[in-house]
Amino acid sequence: MIQHVAAAVCTLYSVAYSGYFLTHLARHLMCGFRAAPPPGTKAAPAPPLAPSASQEEAKEEEDSGELPAVLEDAGELPSVPGDDSELPAALGDEGEHPALWEYSGEAPAAWDKDSGHLPVWDEGSGCPLVQDEDGQAPMGASSTWFLSGNIVSVAEPAEKYLEVEQIGQGAFGTVSKGLDRATGGEVAIKKMSLRGQNGEHAVNELLLLKDKKNPNIVNSLDSFLVGGDLWLVMEYMDGGTLQDVVRQTRMAEGEMAAVSRECLQGLDFLHANRVIHRDLKSSNILLGMAGSVKLADFGLCAQLGSEQDRRSSMVGTAHWMAPEVVTSSPYGPKVDIWSFGIVTIEMVEGEPPYFKETRAMARALIQHNGTPQLQEPRRLSALLRDFLECSLEPDEEQRWSAQELLQHPFLSSAKPLSSLTPLITAAKQLREQRRR
Ligand code: ATP
Repeated sequence: MIQHVAAAVCTLYSVAYSGYFLTHLARHLMCGFRAAPPPGTKAAPAPPLAPSASQEEAKEEEDSGELPAVLEDAGELPSVPGDDSELPAALGDEGEHPALWEYSGEAPAAWDKDSGHLPVWDEGSGCPLVQDEDGQAPMGASSTWFLSGNIVSVAEPAEKYLEVEQIGQGAFGTVSKGLDRATGGEVAIKKMSLRGQNGEHAVNELLLLKDKKNPNIVNSLDSFLVGGDLWLVMEYMDGGTLQDVVRQTRMAEGEMAAVSRECLQGLDFLHANRVIHRDLKSSNILLGMAGSVKLADFGLCAQLGSEQDRRSSMVGTAHWMAPEVVTSSPYGPKVDIWSFGIVTIEMVEGEPPYFKETRAMARALIQHNGTPQLQEPRRLSALLRDFLECSLEPDEEQRWSAQELLQHPFLSSAKPLSSLTPLITAAKQLREQRRR
């Protein structure tokens, strides 16, 4: 009897394994075939920007004792209102501290210049601390850390800004609209707790925005410490998010090309500075009424260093994650290109692939399906289909970089940015109607 059962198990296993093997063989052959770009597009993508992974360092991160998928699916994300399938995976899912300096082993430029100290995280208060000469953290050092490095303004925020109304809530804080008392100009004020992992997220965003200025990155204007919170004052993007537009309107290809070009310029800037955004999605792309397009929400970003050019933490929002992220393989900046491809699908279809699926199922489908299928591919031009394939190439090495995609002929069909204004207006009106 036992022999029969064992024989049956062996047979089942060998059938299953040969199916798996054949599927993978077929996918490898397909990959090789796709490596030759279609006529009219760039001849061949250049080698990837980053050299190959330092396996040992990647392993170290992997071994940090976490089960991110379990944590994420067990509902251990910070509880916030809204569509929970779009919440980013909690920071520190993997026991990691993704603040810029921690992974790179280098202090971020702004911090390094200002004080030369490296911050240390206080387990008790959850705030960054400054150590004195003996390595002891003096009392109240968390504010010293910010103030001594000129990281935040000393002033009282209410003296400079008048808060008008709350306009947004994300996983890591609330966002209010405000007015600059001196100029009357509109600002956005993002309030983030400095306690626990939220604090790392907040400082990550603050340092990135302080240091990296670009027309396609939301501009930070000021920052304050208020009690245990960090207030980040940014330019106010009066057109809302790209998510509002993709959900409420139907975009023409020329409009998609215009948004794509702006996003890619932002990504190209980040990647040239060795920063990976890691949570690109339409709700993190902000619009101005005149058509400006800017990347936002840098709490999960990672700064690559000269030594460490790969990461392997499962960080981001499930439906937008690249295959190498869901498999916890070492990855580089091209994870943002995959997420950008998913944003392009959002512009085409109004939502990312597998949107109705749970986060765990979405990750499994990303891993097994590779490039997602479009609902109605025939509706799209050949150039847009090719543009999507170049961004959503499962093999990271074959996937195009931001710089390469900026040369893709699809972008030459871009309409002027002002063509986005009617879409933004329509999205605002529809949202308003639905709210009533
Ligand atoms: P997430 O859950 O995506 O991580 P978060 O807590 O990091 O969110 P943000 O995504 O930065 O917060 O902001 C939440 C919302 O606030 C945005 O979706 C947007 O509607 C609004 N918002 C953020 N920054 C601005 C800005 N500069 N101008 C206008 N609105 C903004």
